[in-house]
Amino acid sequence: MNIIIFGPPGAGKGTQSKYIVSKFNLFQLSTGDLLRNEIKNKSSVGLKIGSIVNAGSLVSDDIVSKLIESYILKDEFKNRIIFDGYPRNISQAKNLNLLLNKYNQKISLVLKLAVDLETIKKRVSGRMVCSMCGKIYNQFFNPAPTGGKCCSSKYLQIRGDDTVDVAVKRYQTYEKQTEPVLDFYKDLNLLKVVNGGSPIEQIYKEISDIISLIEGWL
Ligand code: AMP
Repeated sequence: MNIIIFGPPGAGKGTQSKYIVSKFNLFQLSTGDLLRNEIKNKSSVGLKIGSIVNAGSLVSDDIVSKLIESYILKDEFKNRIIFDGYPRNISQAKNLNLLLNKYNQKISLVLKLAVDLETIKKRVSGRMVCSMCGKIYNQFFNPAPTGGKCCSSKYLQIRGDDTVDVAVKRYQTYEKQTEPVLDFYKDLNLLKVVNGGSPIEQIYKEISDIISLIEGWL
């Protein structure tokens, strides 16, 4: 089955996608990763889009569409894709339907990881990095172990307010842009909303149950 996963930055899309990919033998297609790869490889597309991506703006629909088509058309990924970062607007959602139709595929499920802004702020502001080993913790959700030498409080650094401001902006942009796309999928009866504020294992169980039900495993 093909799945789309939506959620604001910090919602845990990456974490959940990794679990789902391994359990259901799927392939995660992150348009952000694909675009960053093009930039890193200095491909002709990469050279065109570097400044756009770095400014946080959206790359043209045409460029992203060509990139994702190159995966959709491959037999090895047929009906096995989790789309992460695509579609980002209604025209991309309609384009995705056209592309999938072209290759005899469809979307079976659209997941939204719903997380409120206060949780996102906490996740970002509670983030602490150990200056010794680089491990990332969160004082609210994933505190550093006590008693150890390396990640003790004197080595833990909290990132500044700046990061929270940026996170708030990205959250608001996400809400504004994706709400109409979610309505599009709601009308197609494909949307399932999962509480992304729950513990990781609980979210994973909920998503697994939804997919298993659609796959006929339950
Ligand atoms: P992400 O990793 O999903 O946050 O994406 C990082 C950046 O890649 C975005 O800020 C955009 O510049 C670009 N990007 C990713 N997906 C898309 C998309 N579907 N349409 C246009 N630009 C995109």
